[in-house]
Amino acid sequence: MEEKKARDFFTEKEKLEIRDAIIAAETHTSGEIRVHVENHCKEDAVKHAEKIFAKLKMHNTAERNGVLFFLAVLDRTFVIYGDAGINSKVPDDFWDSVRDHMLPFFKQKLFTRGLCEGIKLAGDKLREHFPHRKDDKDELSNDVSFS
Ligand code: CA
Ligand code: CA
Repeated sequence: MEEKKARDFFTEKEKLEIRDAIIAAETHTSGEIRVHVENHCKEDAVKHAEKIFAKLKMHNTAERNGVLFFLAVLDRTFVIYGDAGINSKVPDDFWDSVRDHMLPFFKQKLFTRGLCEGIKLAGDKLREHFPHRKDDKDELSNDVSFS
């Protein structure tokens, strides 16, 4: 049997829910959040997230504060990857609490809920270091991407 495409993992409604969570989180912070979904990840997940980050041109933010939530759904792999501007300001375990918050949802297969919760928490955390500004631009797409 052919495997379902990653693109079809979420319903249209769920994709919109995730997008709306990103839009809401970005009203609190200048940080830019994206979600990328694949079926499998055949290499080191952090390395792979780094590649996706580059492919999506997520370095193109003024403050280098893009954050990628990368999910390989069939391999049950998940990485939160932040850009240099964030890493220079926060401790190494900055994303651990976000990850820990999301994993119980994923374990119950509540992927949309887990992502939306994580995105919200990431926005709250980023806000301390990268507050939202009046002249904010939406620098990176809020739509979930797939490959
Ligand atoms: Ca923005
Ligand atoms: Ca955005």
